[in-house]
Amino acid sequence: MTGTFTAWPALRERLSKSRFRSRFRLSKADRAYIARVGWEAIAAHSRKIVGERLTPAEPRNDGRQTPMRGHPVFIAQHATATCCRGCLAKWHAIPAGRALSAEEVEFVVSVHLAWLREAAGDLTSFPTQETLGL
Ligand SMILES: [Zn+2]
Repeated sequence: MTGTFTAWPALRERLSKSRFRSRFRLSKADRAYIARVGWEAIAAHSRKIVGERLTPAEPRNDGRQTPMRGHPVFIAQHATATCCRGCLAKWHAIPAGRALSAEEVEFVVSVHLAWLREAAGDLTSFPTQETLGL
C-alpha cells in the first residue's frame, strides 16, 4: 500500500480509548516474521484472512473466528476491532448479515496495515529475505 490512509488517525484515536483494544502488542517474533516476509506478503495475508473469515454474510464461528496469536494480522484484528462482524458493525458501521464489498475488504486491509506498521516500528535490526538468502 502506498500513500496515506486518511481514515487512520481518527480511528486510532477512537481505539486508543478502549483499554481492551489498546492492550494488544506485537511480539518480537511477530516483528521478526514481518521483517522476514515483507509488507507485501503481510498485505496479501490480511486480504486472505479477511476474505475467508470476515467477508461471507455469515462467517463460520462469527465472534470466535480470530485467534489471539499465530499471525500478526490476528493481533491487528483484535487491536483494530476488525475481528468479527459484530465488531465491524459496532466500530466501523459495516452491517452484519451480508457479504463485505470489495471496498470494505480493502478498508479492513488498510486498517490492518496502518496498525501493523505502527506496532512493528523499526524493523531494520531483523533479518530480511535478502539477508537470509531466501
Ligand atoms: Zn470481534
